[in-house]
Amino acid sequence: MAINRRGFVIGSSIAVAGAAAATTGTPAAFATPRERHILPIGHPVEPPEDIDFVGVTFSKRPTSHARIRFSADGSPSDWVSVRPSSHCPDWHPYGTASDLVPVPPDCTSIEVQNDDEAAEATPIAISGLQSITSAFSQTVNFLSLPVITRAGWGAEETLGRRASGGVRWSPSFSSPQIITVHHSAIATARNAAATVRAIHRYHTATLGWGDIGYHLLIDPAGSIYAGRSTGNALAPVFADGDSATDRLVVGGHSYAFNEGNLGICLLGDFTSSAPTQAARETLVSLLAALCSALGLDPEGHSSYVNPGTGATAQVWSVAQHRELNSTSCPGDAVAMNFSQIRTEAARRLRTGASTSISNPGAQASASSAPEVLPVSVLEG
Ligand SMILES: [Zn+2]
Repeated sequence: MAINRRGFVIGSSIAVAGAAAATTGTPAAFATPRERHILPIGHPVEPPEDIDFVGVTFSKRPTSHARIRFSADGSPSDWVSVRPSSHCPDWHPYGTASDLVPVPPDCTSIEVQNDDEAAEATPIAISGLQSITSAFSQTVNFLSLPVITRAGWGAEETLGRRASGGVRWSPSFSSPQIITVHHSAIATARNAAATVRAIHRYHTATLGWGDIGYHLLIDPAGSIYAGRSTGNALAPVFADGDSATDRLVVGGHSYAFNEGNLGICLLGDFTSSAPTQAARETLVSLLAALCSALGLDPEGHSSYVNPGTGATAQVWSVAQHRELNSTSCPGDAVAMNFSQIRTEAARRLRTGASTSISNPGAQASASSAPEVLPVSVLEG
């Protein structure tokens, strides 16, 4: 292993030529080489240049959480608990990686501690993501809503390919049964597309899945991003686009509950603050459009069965991640309002009201009463 000039161990280099494999338009340009920066455990270090996030992988599911803190001008932040995440494909070892943790822009040192010596922790800096200089905005019409294509947000498609050129996580398809809403559990970077690229890079290369796990992502301005590849750059979510809604590409967002489960990720951490009004409006529009296309009642329930893992659950047809896995996702501030979101989606579906996106940047207010979940969940 090599040591860079700031003292970080540089792990296996990830070769990236830079261009997104778009079928149309001008590909994004990447200005810096891609390296995998492994941070040490147990003492503070200066962050690598252009670092955006830190992710932590574990050699096995830890019995206690790792911790991370950041310093600015010598003043350390409080410790942030780094928990194993259930945002992963059905075939990935459960609980062996965290979600990403955002690095403050004024950070001068990073310190990671791991209290479970039996589960080796490896903190990895995700850096250089904001060096994309010419990502372009390309959208496709998806169920009458504009969705930014993978090329449009600058997906580094080469990360998901083998040296031979083949795709590492080939798309497979299943019949859609439910929709699950998530939050990314991280503050959105200054550039929302850079956050999508960070998640894609982390899932695809760092964790080795070969692609991003979510089907669709929504940023604070209410824009929708295409996630998991169907193999068709211009057809998100479903094989052959929204003309073939009976074939949903299998993603990796709710462990053991992925086949037939369409994952939508709200970018942001909604533990204590609500999504923007623009993001909420887009979520309602998207849920109404998807439920209409799939024949789902936004306020109804489904008997979910995963044909691959055998996991079953009696859940809302429009579920929150916390109804499937042991997680707080999509955050208490979303959960408090989720019955209203379902009701608004149902009303919009019935009335066929406009699905236009408006009021970007406005904050939604959270109600004070948490939603009661009147369903039982059978863990698989
Ligand atoms: Zn989630």
